[in-house]
Amino acid sequence: MKRDIEDFAIFGGRPAFLHPLYVGHPNIVDRDRLFDRLNWTLDNQWLTNGGPLAREFEDRVAELSGVRNCVATCNATVALQLLVHAAELTGEVIMPSMTFAATPHSVRWLGLTPVFCDIDPRYGGVDVSAVEASITERTSAIFGVHLWGRPCAVDELEKLAAARGLRLFFDAAHALGCSSKGRPIGGFGDAEVFSFHATKVVNAFEGGAIVTDDDELAQRIRSLHNFGIGMEGFNAAGGTNGKFNEAAAAMGLTSLDSFPKYTRHNQGNYELYRSELAGVAGVRVIEFDPEERNNYHYIVIEVDREVTGISRDLLMELLHAERVQAKPYFSPACHELEPYRSQRPIRLPHTEWLAARVLAMPTGTTVSREDIRRVCNIVRIAVERGRDITARRRQDA
Ligand SMILES: *Cc1c(COP(=O)(O)O)cnc(C)c1O
Repeated sequence: MKRDIEDFAIFGGRPAFLHPLYVGHPNIVDRDRLFDRLNWTLDNQWLTNGGPLAREFEDRVAELSGVRNCVATCNATVALQLLVHAAELTGEVIMPSMTFAATPHSVRWLGLTPVFCDIDPRYGGVDVSAVEASITERTSAIFGVHLWGRPCAVDELEKLAAARGLRLFFDAAHALGCSSKGRPIGGFGDAEVFSFHATKVVNAFEGGAIVTDDDELAQRIRSLHNFGIGMEGFNAAGGTNGKFNEAAAAMGLTSLDSFPKYTRHNQGNYELYRSELAGVAGVRVIEFDPEERNNYHYIVIEVDREVTGISRDLLMELLHAERVQAKPYFSPACHELEPYRSQRPIRLPHTEWLAARVLAMPTGTTVSREDIRRVCNIVRIAVERGRDITARRRQDA
């Protein structure tokens, strides 16, 4: 255990961990079950193109999100692009900047313009009045994002989209198994998109899914993700290859089997971070609403530099030296990243304010309670001695 700032690895001490702790380290799957499914797939000789495991995976994701249709895809980015195509979006799509670059990239890749709007800094989700103010005659859709698995303002956005005749989609990459006012994420807007990338709570190595109650939209997406086949042969809409293969489905199903276990482990990690950091002034673990279903996959702390005397960036550097690979998700926010920064320079004060303060902490099934106690001990001392560390850093520079 560290006692003084001399013990910190940035000042020459020994790193606290021999093996690095990561954010988004893949959750542990049951190997026997995975290999059983892979063996079964090889025996079955149906490797892709809507195979039986992919169909089973789609059924289970649809059920989990309380919707009628699920189309699994090779990843969530292609799933977002399929939505843009299937809904024939044009012009501008309004979205928060506080998200992973895949959200705006998917729209831009198809020649549309992502229009970033500010967030409500209290919860990190999109500010509905800012969305409304961003609507122009070129706007065709709104993309909400359930940042860190916490639902954005789904009801207000549904009302706004209906009133203004816009399509409404959600990037739900973080929000599998979560709920808003008791209703499962997946059923809001015209459709929602999940990611099953290796870093997500349920993983299929790579994978995505579109869930919707709009049967016609689902049918269009299903054919568009298979070269357009199924829409009366090859047709004017064209198509792409966004298919989900059976090996990915085997992994996805096996990971889904353990999802309740992951959630329990993550909830325990979250509660431990909360109690260990409760007395640390200027550091707050961003809360999940205990009334809702949560997957607790992202544990994010907010660092108030005025109180701690140490900036988020210096705290992160200090943690990295200890081999605690905390991540500044999502900082810089998308509007401050290329290609958006130079194409359309804008200021989003609430987004920039929050982006400068947040730090995602290591969690998941590979991170133990003891690891978390040690991480929190480092954070506690780093904050108690925040001003000394900052001054010493300046001297060294
Ligand atoms: C991971 C992620 C994506 C992209 O998912 P892929 O399956 O890797 O394409 C999109 N949006 C958000 C918010 C994400 O975190």
